[in-house]
Amino acid sequence: MPNLNKIFERHRTAALAEPKPVEWQCVKMMEEAGELAAELLIDSEHKAVHKSPGADGVKGEVADVIQVAMCIFYNIGGTTEEFEEIFEQKLLKWEKCIRARKERLQKIVEKKRLTFYNNGALWKIIKILKLSTRQKNHGIKT
Ligand SMILES: [Mg+2]
Repeated sequence: MPNLNKIFERHRTAALAEPKPVEWQCVKMMEEAGELAAELLIDSEHKAVHKSPGADGVKGEVADVIQVAMCIFYNIGGTTEEFEEIFEQKLLKWEKCIRARKERLQKIVEKKRLTFYNNGALWKIIKILKLSTRQKNHGIKT
């Protein structure tokens, strides 16, 4: 399997060889995001799009979005080192949000005296809590 840094550097080389302006690349990224959305809808239980899946599938469309986003990043002067640094910061922020959300939910669960908390049951609990809040707001007794 190729090293991720080498892949990034190959993307950088390809991106810098791209003659189209970043504004065009941004539009292209939106097009790829649309293709990703369509693939997800084709793949979903709702079958909201009546098309056959494309050859790339959902994962391929995710890769297309990332590839164009990276193209923009490198074309505005970004480097692979910067990309790593920025991504590390973004990841730390995201992980902090996830921890905070879990702590908030844990407090709700404790407040409701639900002792069966675990990741698998968490969303069921949230649904129950939302439902009971909705019922309370609408005067529905359980
Ligand atoms: Mg595509």
